[in-house]
Amino acid sequence: MILIVDDNPDNIYSLQKLLESKNFKVDTAHSGEEALKKILKYNYALIILDVQMPDMDGFEVAENIAGFSKTKETPIIFLSAVNTDKRFITKGYDSGGLDYVTKPVDPDILMLKVKTFYRLYEQTQALKDIQQTLEMEVERRKQAQSELRSKVDYLHTLLESLPQIAFTCDHLGNIGFVNGRWFQFSDSENTFPQTHPDDRSITAELQESLESGKPLEMEVRVKKRDESGYSYQLLRVWPILENGENNWVGTFTDIDAQKKAEKEKDEFLSIASHELKTPLTSIKAYMQLLDRKLSLDKSCAEAKYVGRVQDQVEKLNSLITDLLDLSKIDNGKLGINKKVFSLERMVQNAIDSIVQTHDQSNMELYRRGDISGLMVYGDEIRLEQVLVNFLTNAYKYAAGTEKVIVDCSVMTDVVKVSVIDFGIGIPENKLSEVFEKFYRVEETSFDFQGLGIGLYICSEIIRSHQGTIGVESSAGKGATFYFTLPLNLPTDAK
Ligand code: ADP
Repeated sequence: MILIVDDNPDNIYSLQKLLESKNFKVDTAHSGEEALKKILKYNYALIILDVQMPDMDGFEVAENIAGFSKTKETPIIFLSAVNTDKRFITKGYDSGGLDYVTKPVDPDILMLKVKTFYRLYEQTQALKDIQQTLEMEVERRKQAQSELRSKVDYLHTLLESLPQIAFTCDHLGNIGFVNGRWFQFSDSENTFPQTHPDDRSITAELQESLESGKPLEMEVRVKKRDESGYSYQLLRVWPILENGENNWVGTFTDIDAQKKAEKEKDEFLSIASHELKTPLTSIKAYMQLLDRKLSLDKSCAEAKYVGRVQDQVEKLNSLITDLLDLSKIDNGKLGINKKVFSLERMVQNAIDSIVQTHDQSNMELYRRGDISGLMVYGDEIRLEQVLVNFLTNAYKYAAGTEKVIVDCSVMTDVVKVSVIDFGIGIPENKLSEVFEKFYRVEETSFDFQGLGIGLYICSEIIRSHQGTIGVESSAGKGATFYFTLPLNLPTDAK
């Protein structure tokens, strides 16, 4: 809006009409005092100020305007009929005005000046707006930075308070922060602790994680600075998404004592199962001798007792064999002797031995799928052990039901052998765990004897045949345990 200040209403009228004809908004004041009141109250883009006014002349008004911070930058055009000489024009500029037009006013010249000042005013306004936005942005960033700093401080305090070694690194793997415990293992905050020569390299593993964005978890032996020995640590490095970029937080947890205890347990299991196996083999042999020597009538009580002892010895034998296998797996010594063999023969042998050992059971064993003539490559004895294990479990966990099915199906490049029972089944949320070492389904573990290692051994055997092992089941709905074997025979065995 433009303010016209003039004591002469005719001058105001003609000027107002001229400006309004060019679409400018106009306000008016008839005296210096009225003008000052309005200027303090409203914002004007331009003031057209008559110099010659009673009481307070235009120069005084301009001086006052220059004194208020709100208005000091508002452009002023002085209008005067008389004071045309240079002295007055200079005074006009001194008092804060920006231009000077003498009467009679040439409308075209005045309009040119008004337009120029108006544009200037708009540009200044726009600049001010930009400046304000920039100031707000700077403020916002300062705030965000200080929030980030306090978050980082919080994280560092947290990491410092941990009983583990902790560190952070950026998406390139450059270490940022390390807590005090770090220096038990490394003498520089920029390098990872020294690892055992036989272990995987931390930086290589970390690099893979950084590239894939997946967390890293690895057991690694690292060297303590004050000792010559290495200590087992569990290294975990997790990504934290921050400002669209992954930063990483890592910890080393001391698992040395746990590892030692595990090793001692494995050694104990290995020694115990070996030591138990020898007398048991003698007991088994002497029981067979005794059985033959006595040649008892099958229906007499003594024959039954001898039979029961032999059954129990057999159970004990298979438990000890499982324990021995377990310690062989732990030591990487589970021997697998692969040859080409008839899968049908292996399946039938497993079925025969299970039917023989479960002759008291009323369960019917059915077969589905024709695999006659199918040759596979693998360790026949170990694979028979897997099938016998599936079948033993089926007889155990589906005791009292009517049937169990052995299904063999040949697919494009694999053969699948499944054992289907209709027993107690396994809750779906436990399925992924049944192949883990020592895992037993909690709900049923009290009702059935077992160590929870049979399926673990099976999975290791199948893994060493590049096959797959799995189970489909739900609680109370029976279970289907299966394994698959690749059908491609080695070229020299075809
Ligand atoms: P276990 O000696 O306990 O039978 P396994 O390793 O053979 O050990 O089996 C692990 C667990 O899986 C068992 O304790 C049992 O809870 C569950 N399981 C295995 N087979 C079956 C099955 N056919 N039906 C229901 N549960 C089963």
